[in-house]
Amino acid sequence: MEKTVKAIQVSESLINAMNRCPKEVYFRKVLKIPPKDSYDKECGKLAHSFIKLLYRKKRGERKYFYKTLSSAIKAWYRVWKLTCDEKEPNFLLIDKDQRLEYQRLGITCISHYYNENLQKSDPIAMEKGFNIPWSLGVNLVGKWDQLRTATHDYIATRRPEIIVNGVLSESYLPIVIVELKTGYFDYDLGPIRSNGGTNKLGLPEIIQAITYTEAFRRCHAGKYPVGHTIYDLETGKTRLIVKEGKLCQEILADYVNNAVDIIQNQVYPRYPNKDKCDACGYKMLCLENIDLYSYKTATLVFSESNEPKKEFEQLKFKFKYKKSKSKPPVI
Ligand code: SF4
Repeated sequence: MEKTVKAIQVSESLINAMNRCPKEVYFRKVLKIPPKDSYDKECGKLAHSFIKLLYRKKRGERKYFYKTLSSAIKAWYRVWKLTCDEKEPNFLLIDKDQRLEYQRLGITCISHYYNENLQKSDPIAMEKGFNIPWSLGVNLVGKWDQLRTATHDYIATRRPEIIVNGVLSESYLPIVIVELKTGYFDYDLGPIRSNGGTNKLGLPEIIQAITYTEAFRRCHAGKYPVGHTIYDLETGKTRLIVKEGKLCQEILADYVNNAVDIIQNQVYPRYPNKDKCDACGYKMLCLENIDLYSYKTATLVFSESNEPKKEFEQLKFKFKYKKSKSKPPVI
C-alpha cells in the first residue's frame, strides 16, 4: 500500500519562530517537547479564548454572555486562578508578582474589549482556521482571530483609494482581519502604544499581516480584505496595516521556502540572543548542553575540550572571547 506523505504545514507563527531561532522549532516540532510556559503567554491565550466566550449563546437581546462588565471580570479572576494553579508548575519562572500583574492586565484587556465593542456588530467569524495548498507538499495554515465587516464609512476614511466611483473596488471584500494582542512578547506593540501607530512595526507583526492577508486572498477567490488590524487590548488602540500585492507575495514566498528548507534539510541552527533566550520556553533544555554561551554574536562558543573556558566570568558581561574552530554539537 502506498504511504501518504503529510504536507508540511507552514504558519505565520512557524515563520516567526524560524526567524527567532530554528532550534526552538526543533525542540517543539521535531522532539515534540512542549515549551515551558510563562504568565504573558498564558494571559494572551486566555484573553483570546475569553473574548470568544463573550459571544457564546446568550439569553434574549444580551450583547455578551456576561450580562455586565463586573460579572465578566469576576469570571476572569476565576479562570486566571484556575489556569495559574494548573499550569504554574510548567512555567519558566513562578512569581507571585507576575501572576498578579497579568491578572490585572487581563482585566484591563477584557474591560477595554467589553466596553469598546458594546455598540459594534459582532465579528462575522472568530478563530477561523485556514489550510491552503501553497506548493507541492506544502500548505499554508493558520487562523484569523476575527473577521469583521468594514462599513463604507470606515473604508472611505481609512482606505479611500479602494473606493472607485463611490463603490468598493472589485478586488476587495468589505472585511477586515482583526488580530487581538495583549502584548505577548512575540509582538512589539510599542509603535501602536506610543503614538497611535505611525511608527515602524516589528518584523513579526509585518510577517503576520502579510501571511494573513495573502491567506485571505487565496481563500476568497483572489479578493483582498480591506486590511489587517492589530487591536491592542491593553490600550484599546487599533492600527490598520495594509500588506498586499506582488512584493508582499514574494516576501512571503521567501519566508515559506526558508522554513521548508530548514525542515527538509533538518538543520536547525541556534540564534541565541539575551532577550529571546530569556523568554524562550526551551531555555533550560537548550542551555543544559552549552558550555559557553554568547548572546552577542548569535554563535555558540565551545572550548576545544568542551570544558568551560577560563574567561567565562568575563565573557558573561564583556563578550570578549576567542573564536573556536570546533563546531557546536547538534542536539
Ligand atoms: S534558548 Fe535561545 S538559542 Fe536556545 S532555543 Fe531558545 S532562543 Fe534558541
